[in-house]
Amino acid sequence: MRIVVLGAGFGGLELTSTLSETFGDEVDVVLIDQNDAFVFGFSKLDVMFGHEPATAVRHPYRDAVKPGVQFVQTAVRSIDAAAKRVETDAGPFEADVLVVALGADLDPGATPGLVEAGHEFYTVAGAFALRDVLADFDGGRVIVAVTSTPFKCPPAPSETALLMDEYLKAKGVRERSEIALVMPMGVPIPPSPDASSALLEAFAQRGIAWHPDSTVQHLDGARRVAVLGDGTELAYDLFLGVPKHRAPEVVVASGMTVDGWIPVDPLTLETSAPDVYAIGDVTSVGTPKAGVFAEGQAAVVAQRLVDRIRGERSSSEYDGHGICYLEFGHDKVAKVEVTFLSGAAPRGGIEGPSSALAADKAEFGASRVRRWFGS
Ligand SMILES: Cc1cc2nc3c(=O)[nH]c(=O)nc-3n(C[C@H](O)[C@H](O)[C@H](O)COP(=O)(O)OP(=O)(O)OC[C@H]3O[C@@H](n4cnc5c(N)ncnc54)[C@H](O)[C@@H]3O)c2cc1C
Repeated sequence: MRIVVLGAGFGGLELTSTLSETFGDEVDVVLIDQNDAFVFGFSKLDVMFGHEPATAVRHPYRDAVKPGVQFVQTAVRSIDAAAKRVETDAGPFEADVLVVALGADLDPGATPGLVEAGHEFYTVAGAFALRDVLADFDGGRVIVAVTSTPFKCPPAPSETALLMDEYLKAKGVRERSEIALVMPMGVPIPPSPDASSALLEAFAQRGIAWHPDSTVQHLDGARRVAVLGDGTELAYDLFLGVPKHRAPEVVVASGMTVDGWIPVDPLTLETSAPDVYAIGDVTSVGTPKAGVFAEGQAAVVAQRLVDRIRGERSSSEYDGHGICYLEFGHDKVAKVEVTFLSGAAPRGGIEGPSSALAADKAEFGASRVRRWFGS
C-alpha cells in the first residue's frame, strides 16, 4: 500500500514518523513538501524577539531520514482526490491512501495597506525580517492585531503583545511606547476562562490596551492609522498583523474545500473521497489551527493505517485534546489544556505561568525534533 502524504509540517511529520517507527522499511510512504526545512510556529517569535538566531530554528528535511519514508522536495500543483493522484513539479504520484496535510496559507495582500504600511509576523520570512525592524525601533505606538478569522494559534497575538512589552522594557523605550492588542474574540482564549483571566490581568498590569471583538480591516499608511471593522481608528508607529488565512490554492482548486477548508469526519479524519484523509490546519475539523491538534489528528490517522495494514479493525478516534504553551515573557510560560469535542462546549484549564513550564515547553519542541529529525 503506497501512502502519499502532502505537507511535512506538524501533521505530516508526526504521521510519517509513526508509520516508519511501526513498520520500518516494510512501509511505502512518500512525504512531499515544497520547503527544504521545518520551522515551529513558536520559533518565529523566538527569532523575531532576538531569543534565537534564524539558523537555530530551521530543521532541514534532509535530516529526517526514516526507513520506509521517501521525502520529495517539490511543489504540489494539482490533487485529484477521486483518483488519489497528485501532480507535482517532480512529476505525478499515485497513492493507495492519500493524506492532505498542507496547512493554511497566509495572504497579507488581502488586507489593504498591510504590505505597504505594516508588517506581518506569521510567515517565516515576515517574522524573521521583523528581528531587524524591532532592533531599529526606538519606541512609539505598537499595534498587534488580527485581520480575519480563522487564524493559527489563537494565543500567539497575546503572547506577542506580552513579549513586546518585555522587549521594549529591556531596550529602555517602554515608557515612551504604547501597546494595543486587537483580537476578534471577546476574551483571549474563549475555551479557558482561567487562561483568559490570567492574560487579561497580565495585559492590565503591563499597560497593554485590549481591543476585543475587533479585527483590523485596513491600514491607512499616509495617516499611520489602523481601521477596525466598526470604523474606529488606532494610530500606530509599528503595526504587527496576523494576515488572512486560506487553504493553499492547490487544495481549493481540487474541489475538496467547503467554505474554504476541507471538511472531514471529526473522529476519523476521512474526507468524502474514499481513502483520502485530511489533517491539521487545512481542515475545518473544529479544533483551533495549531500544531498540537494537527499532531493529534496525525496520530489517529497513523493508528488507523497501522491497523489497516495489519488487517485489523481500527477503533482509533480523535479526541480533540491538546496542550498549548503560553509565553508570558520574562522566561515564564503557562500551560493550557483544552479539549474540543464535537457537539460539546470546549473546556480547558491553566497551569502556571512559571519557569518550570518554560522548561516543559523547551522539551516539547526538543522531543519533536528528536523524533522527527533524529537529532
Ligand atoms: C507565530 C506562531 C506561533 C505558533 N505557536 C504555536 C504553538 O505554540 N503551538 C502550536 O501547537 N501551534 C503553534 N502555531 C501553529 C502551528 O504552527 C500550525 O498550526 C501547525 O504548523 C499546523 O500544522 P499542519 O501540519 O496542519 O500544517 P503546517 O505545519 O503549516 O505544514 C504544511 C506544510 O505544507 C507545505 N505546503 C503547502 N502548500 C504546498 C504545496 N502546494 N506543495 C508542497 N508543499 C506545500 C508547507 O510548506 C508546509 O510545510 C503557531 C503559529 C504561528 C504563526
